[in-house]
Amino acid sequence: MAKEKKGVRLEHISKIYQDPKTKKDFYAVRDTSLEIAPGSFVTLLGPSGCGKTTTLRMIAGFESPDEGEIYLGDEAINALTPNKRDTAMVFQSYALLPHYNIFDNVAYGLKLRKMDKETIKVKVMDILKLVGLEGMEGRMTNQLSGGQQQRVALARALVLEPGVLLFDEPLSNLDAKLRVSMRTEIRRIQQEAGITAVYVTHDQSEAMALSDQIIIMEKGVVAQIGTPQEVYYHPSNEFVADFIGEANFLRGTLVSGETADIGGHKVAVDAAGQNVGGACTLVLRPESAVLGDAGQLPCKVILSCFMGSYQNYHVMVGDTLVKITDFNPKSKKIYAVGDEAWVGFTKEDVHVL
Ligand code: ATP
Repeated sequence: MAKEKKGVRLEHISKIYQDPKTKKDFYAVRDTSLEIAPGSFVTLLGPSGCGKTTTLRMIAGFESPDEGEIYLGDEAINALTPNKRDTAMVFQSYALLPHYNIFDNVAYGLKLRKMDKETIKVKVMDILKLVGLEGMEGRMTNQLSGGQQQRVALARALVLEPGVLLFDEPLSNLDAKLRVSMRTEIRRIQQEAGITAVYVTHDQSEAMALSDQIIIMEKGVVAQIGTPQEVYYHPSNEFVADFIGEANFLRGTLVSGETADIGGHKVAVDAAGQNVGGACTLVLRPESAVLGDAGQLPCKVILSCFMGSYQNYHVMVGDTLVKITDFNPKSKKIYAVGDEAWVGFTKEDVHVL
């Protein structure tokens, strides 16, 4: 459906804003370089204010970078206005035309391009089928549910056959259940249309479910780029580990490439090539740890809570709180508050920072 899948390249991009309170300039985005492969689904993820929307708006052309160059495919696009760029944006607010029906909302951009009526009809009907609104073309947009409005907004962007589709937190106005079903739909539609997508969200589960690659931003810079598995299992720092899922941090010393000392206990790790003799932090996911009568680190249980599909434990290892999620606890030994036990994990379960 897309004319041509295009990649996006940012080369040393910065955006400087003035803080309205202090009147001082600051970098909303600083010296950011990244590459988005043609046809891939890439998410810009990070906490509020980290610069993800600014980055997306620079790709769209609504903001211009103060430093650096943006490429769409091989073309440098800094000087192009948004409508001259081969991109289309799906907004959080949908931005639909209220007194138009679905067909006219979707057809609007094609009419502006002076396309003939018959071609417009074929293209609009094709797209409405793709987004699951077939047969609803005569409905006014103010008679639609939030999810349906979001589909119209998506159709309106897709019908322009952009090289790159941009999404600015498109699901944040929907309720939790609809968000989950719409994100599956967005992924299906992106794959069927075979289009490059750049998607902004602060919701890590949305990013995990949608993305080929996640770009995690922190304070205007890229903290890590990787597949959902890479950023989850091999976070580049504590910020990423903490932002994506839940993480326990065990602090100690790296004794060798295979052993760390955590509070006087030797544990097996896989840290080949890392700084032996120095301080290290082990990242341990709650579902990767087990609680047992034997293990790597002695602990005391301070919370034991049945959650249905899992038993939720909080234990103290020395003065470090460790959270453990023990799935399918039905036939397992359950530890109570006050019990002495051991936290167990294999070297594959911990990531050394
Ligand atoms: P959110 O999830 O809250 O939208 P974000 O990661 O998308 O956050 P941006 O909207 O990119 O963050 O903003 C980055 C920083 O730049 C924030 O500190 C924000 O307050 C600031 N900022 C954004 N737009 C402007 C502007 N036009 N003028 C001044 N400061 C701005």
